[in-house]
Amino acid sequence: MLGSLASWLRVLDFDVAYDAGLEDAELVERAVLERRTILTRDRRLIQRRRARDHLFIRDDAVAAQLRQVLVELGLGVRRGSLFGRCLRCNTPLVEEPPEAVRAEVPPYVAATQRRFRRCPDCRRLYWSATHVTGMVERLEAMGVLSG
Ligand SMILES: [Zn+2]
Repeated sequence: MLGSLASWLRVLDFDVAYDAGLEDAELVERAVLERRTILTRDRRLIQRRRARDHLFIRDDAVAAQLRQVLVELGLGVRRGSLFGRCLRCNTPLVEEPPEAVRAEVPPYVAATQRRFRRCPDCRRLYWSATHVTGMVERLEAMGVLSG
């Protein structure tokens, strides 16, 4: 239900576990075990005794959700640490030298991009491209990023 919010929080480099397939009881146990704050729109879930550390997300719109999380959990956003995690796995990315990835990327990308990062889990490769600029502009429009 909050998959979009989870992705945006990963763009901002926060450690976010997301698994839509988990039962409520499993989700709460995992949160307790990994000392995570549960973000949810499900009131029944937060009534569980062990779901003590939680934030009830009020809004449907992802921009408002993101602002609520940052304000109410007191999280700061730093421009320099955007895009540090795999959006699919939440794993911190590692730098790859351009010559190591040349065979995997389109020639135009190989010729124009200098910085590549890879997810050690799913092996997905990331590089700065127009969609990164687009995401930064969206974060600015959402009031999450300034300056
Ligand atoms: Zn990954």
